[in-house]
Amino acid sequence: MPPYFMNESSEYTSDRARQAEKIALTPQEYKVCEGCGSIVTERTVACPSCHAYLFDAATDRVIAQAKLLAKRNQNAVLSSDLT
Ligand SMILES: [Zn+2]
Repeated sequence: MPPYFMNESSEYTSDRARQAEKIALTPQEYKVCEGCGSIVTERTVACPSCHAYLFDAATDRVIAQAKLLAKRNQNAVLSSDLT
């Protein structure tokens, strides 16, 4: 598991911004957790952050959330599964 997945330190802001950029380019591969706002891959069953099972897969929602997370460095995670 990549360190930035669990670590919310601000020193990882650039990683988050880069991930958000990738997510915004292929939003159809992601969805937003309704429980905590994390972005996970579309094949994720349960949120790794809050263990919720409800997700919003709307592409505009995913893009907006990715930009929000990159900018505000919130507690919510960005998906680590970007292979
Ligand atoms: Zn969640």
